Amino acid sequence: MHDFKYVNGRLHCEGVAIEGLVRRHGSPLYVYSQSTLVHHFQSLHQALEPLDHLVCYAAKANSNLGVLGVLAGEGSGFDIVSQGELRRIIAAGGDPSKCVFAGVGKSEEEIAYALEQGIYSFNVESEPELLRINRVAARLKRRAPVAVRINPNVDAHTHSKITTGTYENKFGVAFELVEQVYARAARLKNIWLRGVQMHIGSQLTEVKPFELAVAKVLPLVVRLKENHGLEFFSIGGGIGIVYDPSLASGTAQWWKSPAARKLLTPASYAQKLVPLLQPLGLRILVEPGRFIVGNAGILVTRVEYVKQTGRKRFVIVDAAMNDLIRPAFYDAYHEIVPLRRKVGKLVKSDVVGPICESGDYFCKDRPLPGFVEGDLLALMSAGAYGSVMGSNYNSRPFPVEILVNGRKHAVVRERQPIDSIWALEKKAVWQK
Ligand SMILES: *Cc1c(COP(=O)(O)O)cnc(C)c1O
Repeated sequence: MHDFKYVNGRLHCEGVAIEGLVRRHGSPLYVYSQSTLVHHFQSLHQALEPLDHLVCYAAKANSNLGVLGVLAGEGSGFDIVSQGELRRIIAAGGDPSKCVFAGVGKSEEEIAYALEQGIYSFNVESEPELLRINRVAARLKRRAPVAVRINPNVDAHTHSKITTGTYENKFGVAFELVEQVYARAARLKNIWLRGVQMHIGSQLTEVKPFELAVAKVLPLVVRLKENHGLEFFSIGGGIGIVYDPSLASGTAQWWKSPAARKLLTPASYAQKLVPLLQPLGLRILVEPGRFIVGNAGILVTRVEYVKQTGRKRFVIVDAAMNDLIRPAFYDAYHEIVPLRRKVGKLVKSDVVGPICESGDYFCKDRPLPGFVEGDLLALMSAGAYGSVMGSNYNSRPFPVEILVNGRKHAVVRERQPIDSIWALEKKAVWQK
């Protein structure tokens, strides 16, 4: 679901024509829809209503202050992976006592800061980390709330760069060792065993792997609850989104197709998982990132040149892999549509950026409208793992980011001034 639609042949975000935004703010630019963010948050929140639960938005998917502010306003909790993200959430008005801190490499400084801010829980990924948290908490005369991350060794059947729940991955504590780790942790004076956590991967498009993982760890979670008085169980994030609408709508009655029936929605997720989780009597946390923000954002770009070489047609645009790395990094698919609807035949095209890397492409040999120089187009579903993974490679400034709310829009990140790219650099003292 999202709020990007054509009105009179022009692509709108909610009540705002995107062409107008480009005229005012230039290109490339990211556009986010507030109503889509709220809708996604609320649909999951409401589907989990039968459970005592907390939705902790995974800030790493998109940590723009405007986006975080919308979710803080809905009462969301947050899943964070660094001190920087926690500082952003506080700056955006989020509540640290609803934050869980994940990640395999938390530094002493990060642990101390998060303890001082009173976060809900550290999701601990190893025994050495547990010892470090205990030591820092002792120094600060506190008890640190923790949950150990279980690696359930379940394959989420997603892209290898986003599978996290098997022993091939660096995440969590092996399923078989978890009880020993809790037993040892229980003897650490400054550790408060508050919960247990898992996260099996990202962009899951079926509910089955979640079901399998939850069912597998359930008896273990029951024992941990009894032995250590736990309060919560976090089942992680990973709910996938539809990037390619033709996959869902490929057949005339697509909603009857097996693929569509299995489509992961908050309702189908809750239908399978709530009955499994309810008898536990624990508070259930979920940590969705992509599901909340993925379809709530697009990247808009302008065609600079069209270049025909032999059998290939290259549409060269002013956005590049430094703005949206997902196609290069994860072989990801982003739907590409014109801001102004075009008639005529589709032509096979590669849409590519200006960066000097062969990996700098958004699609290859895809039938697209016959784009010409100056056309504006949108890369859809770019809200998650888009701007946050951006870089200044090739000394390209970060694009402007805009949040739309009904007929209003606000710049939530200014376009980066070019000379700020090297503002922290200087020549060595011996250079003239
Ligand atoms: C990345 C991550 C998430 C969010 O994943 P999505 O696929 O964006 O929902 C949640 N929890 C943890 C621990 C993560 O590392």
